[in-house]
Amino acid sequence: MNAIVARRDHHEALNRLSDRRLLRELAYVDGAWTAGDEGNGFIVEDPATGRELAWVAGLSQAQTDAAIDAAATAFPAWAALLPGERAKILRKWFDLIIENREDLALIMTLEQGKPISEARGEIDYAADFVEWYAEEGKRVNVEGVTSHLPGAHMSVERMPLGVVGLVTPWNFPTAMLTRKAAAALAAGCTVVAHPSSQTPLSALALAELGERAGLPAGVFNILTGSASSIVARICEDQRVRALSFTGSTAIGQRIAAQCAPSMKRLVMELGGHAPLIVFDDADLERAVKIAIDAKFATSGQDCLAANRIFVQRGLYERFCEAFAKAVAGLKVANGLDEESQIGPLMHGRAVAKALEHIEDARMRGAQVLAGGGIHAEGPLFVEPTLLADVPGDAAIMHEETFGPVAAVAVFDEEAEVIARANDTEYGLVAYVVTENGARQRRLARALDYGMVAINRVKITGAPIPFGGIKQSGMGREGARHGMEAFTELKYVCSDAA
Ligand code: NAP
Repeated sequence: MNAIVARRDHHEALNRLSDRRLLRELAYVDGAWTAGDEGNGFIVEDPATGRELAWVAGLSQAQTDAAIDAAATAFPAWAALLPGERAKILRKWFDLIIENREDLALIMTLEQGKPISEARGEIDYAADFVEWYAEEGKRVNVEGVTSHLPGAHMSVERMPLGVVGLVTPWNFPTAMLTRKAAAALAAGCTVVAHPSSQTPLSALALAELGERAGLPAGVFNILTGSASSIVARICEDQRVRALSFTGSTAIGQRIAAQCAPSMKRLVMELGGHAPLIVFDDADLERAVKIAIDAKFATSGQDCLAANRIFVQRGLYERFCEAFAKAVAGLKVANGLDEESQIGPLMHGRAVAKALEHIEDARMRGAQVLAGGGIHAEGPLFVEPTLLADVPGDAAIMHEETFGPVAAVAVFDEEAEVIARANDTEYGLVAYVVTENGARQRRLARALDYGMVAINRVKITGAPIPFGGIKQSGMGREGARHGMEAFTELKYVCSDAA
C-alpha cells in the first residue's frame, strides 16, 4: 500500500462509460465514499495493456474496525424490516444493474481482461442472484413443530446471523459478490466485503448502484485494500458471525483457521480441477464444443474449467484432431474487441504457471497440438494450447492450471476413468459426454463432485446449489441453501396452557 499519488495516465476506454460516476475509487463504508488513512491506496491496471485505470483507496485496520462497527450498528434496523421491504430495495438494485449493464461490463473487461461478451454474461448472471434472493427472502418461514411434550407449543424460526464477512476473487468480480451479498442481505444480515485488489472497481460500481437503490448506510460496505490485513481483522472480530470466501484453497484454509477462535459460520468456494470425460458413443462435434466451452471460458481462469480431458480410445484420435482445429481457431484479443474469445491472464504469475504446466507436460512426453507459448498480443496473453497424450504424472493432471491450456489423455474402461477422475483432492464439478442414459446415471452417482454436468457446460444460476466437496470447499451458494448459510435456527418452546 503506497501513500503516493500515482501519475494519472488517463485510459481512453473510460470515455466510453455513459455514467462516469460508476467508476469509484474510494472504499464504501457506512454509506460514505472513504479514502484510505494517510491517502493509502493502490493502482488498478488493465491487464490487456498494462495501462493504469484507477488509484483505489487502501483501508487500514482501524478503518476496517470502523466498517464492522457500522455494519453492526445498521444490523438491527435492517433485520427488523419486513422481507418484502428488503425485497423492494434489492429489486431496485437489480433493475439498476440491468440498466447499467454495458458500463458494468466495460469496467469488468477493463480491470479483469475477460472478453466483453463474457463480461455482459457475467453481469446478467450476477443480477439474477439479486432478483432471485429479493423474492426468496420472502419465503423464510417459521416452522411449526408437533409437540412431544404435554402442554407445550413449539416453533422454529430462522434468524439472520448478523454481520457477515465476504471475500471475493478476481475471476468473477461481480457475480461472486452478488451470489453472496444478495443472499446475506435478503436474509437480513449486513455485509462487510473485501473484493480482490486486482478487480475492486466492479465491486465499487455495485456499491454505487446499491446506494442509489436505497441500501441504508452501513448495510453494504466495500473494504478495498490489503487482503491480509483487512480480511484478518474481519476474521478475528466476534461481531462478524459468518465468513463466506471464494478463492484459492490455500487462502481458504488460512482464513478458516483465522475464523476458528471466533467460531464463525464458514462458506468456502475454493479451487477446482474438473475432469471432462468423453465416451466413444459421444457425438464428436458436440464433444468438441463442450470441451472448448468447459476449458476456455474466462480464458481458462475459471474454477469450473475442465483441467483434465479423458477421451475413450475409439474416439481419441478424431477428437484430438477436431479439438486442435477448434483451439487454434479461438480468437485471442483485447477483451474490448467484440470478437475476442481469449483475453489476457490476470497477472504474470498466472502466465508463468500456464507455461510451466505446458513445459512440464512436454518434458514428460505430451504432444503440443496447438499453441504452446505467449501470444503476440502482449505479455499476459497465452496462446490457447492443446496438450495430447498427457501422462498421469504431469503437473497439469494434479494442479489447477487457471489458464487457456487443455490437457487430453486416453482411457479404455468406464471404471478406470471414474477412478482417474476421482483421484484428486478437489471435488467441484465433473463433466461427462455420453449418449448412453444408463451410463449417465452411473457416472452421476460415482463421480465425487458437488456438481456433475452431463452433455452440457452451462449449469450455474441463482436457483441451484453451487459448491464443491473435499478441498473444493464447504457449503453451497445459490438456491435456498445459499440463504440458509446466513441464518441461524431459533427454537422456541412455550407453555400452551
Ligand atoms: P485468492 O488469491 O485465494 O484470492 C481470493 C480473495 O482472497 C481475494 O479477495 C484476495 O485478495 C484475498 N486474499 C488473498 N490473500 C489473502 C490472505 N493472505 N488473507 C486473506 N485474504 C486473502 O484467489 P484468486 O486468485 O483471486 O481466485 C482464483 C481462485 O479462486 C482459484 O483457485 C479458483 O478456483 C477459485 N474460485 C473458486 C470459485 C468457486 O465458486 N468454487 C469461484 C471462483 C474462483 P487480493 O486479491 O487483494 O489479494
